[in-house]
Amino acid sequence: MTKNKSFFATLRLCALILFVSFAAFAQTVPAPKDVLGFTPGDNRKLASWKQVIDYFQKLDTASDRVQFQEIGKSTLGNPFVYATISAPENLRNLEKYKQINAKLADPRLIKSNEKLSQDLIKQGKTIVLITCGIHSNEVGSYLSSTLIADKLATATDAETLKILDNTIILLVPSLNPDGVDIIKNWYDKTLGTKFEGTEPPELYHKYVGHDDNRDWYAFTQVETQLTVDKIHNVWHPQIVHDIHQQGANGSRMFLPPYLPPVEPNVPKELIEGFTELGNYMANDLRGKGFSGITTASTYDAWTPARAYSHYHGGVRILSETASARLATPVNIKFEDLRSGLGYDVRKESANFSPVWKGGEWHLRDITNYMTTAAFSLLKHASDNRERWLSRFYAVGKEAVRPRNKSGELYGFRIKIDDNFPILLNILDRAGVQHGFPKGEKETKVKDLSYFDTKTTYPSESVIIPLEQPYGAFAKAILEKQVYPNLLDEKGNPIPPYDVTAHTLSLLMNVKVEEIKAPFKPNWIKNSRINTGISDCMLGGDKTGIYKSHIPVMDEGWTRWTLEKKGICEEFENVIDKEIRANNLEQKKPPTSSILQKDLGKKYLYKTIIFPDQSANQILNGFAKGAMPDEYTGGIGADGVANLKKFVEAGGTLVFLNRASNFAIEQFDLPVKDVTQGLPRKDFFIPGSILRTELDTTSPIAKGMDAQSIAWFENSPAFEVAADAKVEIIAKYPTDAKNILLSGYALGAERIAGKAALVEINIGKGKIILFGFRPQYRGQSLATFPLLFNAIAN
Ligand SMILES: [Zn+2]
Repeated sequence: MTKNKSFFATLRLCALILFVSFAAFAQTVPAPKDVLGFTPGDNRKLASWKQVIDYFQKLDTASDRVQFQEIGKSTLGNPFVYATISAPENLRNLEKYKQINAKLADPRLIKSNEKLSQDLIKQGKTIVLITCGIHSNEVGSYLSSTLIADKLATATDAETLKILDNTIILLVPSLNPDGVDIIKNWYDKTLGTKFEGTEPPELYHKYVGHDDNRDWYAFTQVETQLTVDKIHNVWHPQIVHDIHQQGANGSRMFLPPYLPPVEPNVPKELIEGFTELGNYMANDLRGKGFSGITTASTYDAWTPARAYSHYHGGVRILSETASARLATPVNIKFEDLRSGLGYDVRKESANFSPVWKGGEWHLRDITNYMTTAAFSLLKHASDNRERWLSRFYAVGKEAVRPRNKSGELYGFRIKIDDNFPILLNILDRAGVQHGFPKGEKETKVKDLSYFDTKTTYPSESVIIPLEQPYGAFAKAILEKQVYPNLLDEKGNPIPPYDVTAHTLSLLMNVKVEEIKAPFKPNWIKNSRINTGISDCMLGGDKTGIYKSHIPVMDEGWTRWTLEKKGICEEFENVIDKEIRANNLEQKKPPTSSILQKDLGKKYLYKTIIFPDQSANQILNGFAKGAMPDEYTGGIGADGVANLKKFVEAGGTLVFLNRASNFAIEQFDLPVKDVTQGLPRKDFFIPGSILRTELDTTSPIAKGMDAQSIAWFENSPAFEVAADAKVEIIAKYPTDAKNILLSGYALGAERIAGKAALVEINIGKGKIILFGFRPQYRGQSLATFPLLFNAIAN
């Protein structure tokens, strides 16, 4: 008995020590509320980026399950960060797990040895990357990152402990740190006013706004580059959970599978993976009492632009939770709910259930859906660890399989010419390796003044064999897309979620050929080529870029293109009220002699660019009452009159894409947009690459090939009035069959032979209309010269 008694006493003592130490432990790991001053999800409360960083730093200090690090700076210089979360034992062995995963990603490293691969699969952990906040107005996402981290750091239940044992979680609190503060500052400024919950009158990323999630194959922005270089390529996650929000009035949450079409280079194992995991999460959430959940609706998987992982062995699990008004609750009536592509929001179906009945919708609802879904995903990743690793290995094995079946595509030959280094850097960043063919003569790439690309290569072309881990990525951006002809029950084409083409070689004017027979290249070790920014191409004349208070991404892309690729500091934004008040006139004596001569010493700018934006938005801006007064109104009639004077005095106005319609309407130009009023069933080109023919005698097309491209998306095509004095610089081929290069085009005959780029002289100046986007998402290098020449001439 005595023995037993002392045994129980010891047990009690142990329990006491455990309790005390657990209490001490619990005290030291801060809850998000302890650092932020509120619990994420509380109404009307947003955290600043500094607060988020502060929270994760304190968590790192207090918890042995969390490692937090800065991996670079954002566009505006904010810390770009992520946390690695796992069991302490795993965190002590991260290098080992990295190595295991690298071998499974590239089976060539273990000579595809089955026995070895099985050992690695037994030992490895599922790598899960969770990315939040790429769209900064989807505020529940970055806030949920702190709630997910908190639970992973503090929970003691068996399920969470198992997740920590079986997975390594890489958590990015925001893929766009700058936007966290842009949104918070605007929200706090308007809090308690009638504008509470509105979106800010500026892009939430300095250059690209919402298009930051269209950059996962061109890698133009530093945030994309950091994520790819320092997270994706280091860890090769099997699962990427990308947490978003959608509109307030549709389903409460979307999860995969995606709507067709799936881009043909996405491996079948990944389609199977996101289908299995998305359905599992949807059913798990339903079982936990969540309603309004849909799968297989609205979002397609037709692009590498949103899905780096689909070409790198990992599934992308997009979740889209219904929004409130930033952090302000909304009340949605059942009758105001709106159905989406693939489901009826009022009717239960196989891919939508149970029906959400409407009512109040708070930020807390959003964070509850998001965090529950994230833990559901983690449970699947943990319970099926070996299955995920086996699937990952299978993708790698198929990718490196020798291509020797007859008729099989072996790879691509890329001609080394001017823009080649930019494309090669993109392939290199995505982990694609290349080789040089033997026996070709050395090539020197011409130094373009807007790219520092002067480089000598040992041959005239490079070879990209497909038999390598990320060959599918290369194939997706080097081949032409054939977007399927999907029609609804009325015979109208179903719009793609985004666009239909992503052939970078066409956009960049780099010649590519398919190789259909096995070929042994001299593989070379990848090395990035210096394509840094060169000296400014233009000097003296200042260019204005029109910036509406209704933010448009094309404006940001225009700035990015001019800043990074040529014109450096020689431009600035012009806003509505400056045009209305005729502030285009020089305030101090100009320094440029060209400017003085051409414009009679009067104007501040030589050229003003109007990025792609609807004619109505440019003319009228935000309506009175929709936003604080200083942001309402567009150019208006006064502004139009001032722009006319500007042109007549010798200025140049350049209109891009839809903005051309503003010019046609307001300046009575002798051209007509032939696409206006055409129903979708007759004419539909929703983001495709078209062929154009250039008049190379025009200074705007000087030095270019006679054939070029146009990025056509909601674009006009011009018919020029007979005997009108209009110079046609680019037009579409007269044979409609030759118009489409990549993507989808219905009714191309409507624009056959029509003009795509025109110049009209007015007084001493001119108006230039682009019927396409010459600087499309920073990718269409092929047509950058047209834009630069339009500005310079
Ligand atoms: Zn989003």
